[in-house]
Amino acid sequence: MMLPITAYGHPVLKKKGEEIDKNYPELDKLIEDMFETMYESNGVGLAAPQINRSIRLFIVDASPFAEEYPEAQDFKKVFINAQLVREEGDEWEFEEGCLSVPGINEYVSRKPVIYLSYYDENFEFHEEEKFDGIKARIIQHEYDHTDGILFVDRLPAFKKLLLKRKLSDISVGKHGAKYKMIYPKKRVKK
Ligand SMILES: [Zn+2]
Repeated sequence: MMLPITAYGHPVLKKKGEEIDKNYPELDKLIEDMFETMYESNGVGLAAPQINRSIRLFIVDASPFAEEYPEAQDFKKVFINAQLVREEGDEWEFEEGCLSVPGINEYVSRKPVIYLSYYDENFEFHEEEKFDGIKARIIQHEYDHTDGILFVDRLPAFKKLLLKRKLSDISVGKHGAKYKMIYPKKRVKK
């Protein structure tokens, strides 16, 4: 089942997600729906806050990058309760986009190597697993979502200011995305 995606400005995108355990209701179905939603909207990653659940869960499938980055082939994974242990190396720039921020792509600087502890979809624990390059990049973007951070929050202030109009348009539904979105409630002026 395709799930609607929360749009820029929705409060759930600003919240730190809660950890879950293996008894989380219908977790398998949720993960399946998230993959379907990600593929249908041509994403390479999707985090639970983007489908309006404030939990520490995200999925990735980097295969669309496989031609340019061979290591992306078959990099399809589920991350639950992930904790970023450390990041290392010299920052590199990569153009990021986000299903919650349609129509905006900007270069973001991040470190190239990460160590992550997490549970997979079978609730097997992975301790301080190393990821690098494009894999690390996708994880860092999705991991940020579970901490309430968007890629545009990592841009220099002047860049974000230039995007202000475009961002507020997204939050009221003025964008070109074809998938269904959930918008923040309009504030009623008194
Ligand atoms: Zn995103």
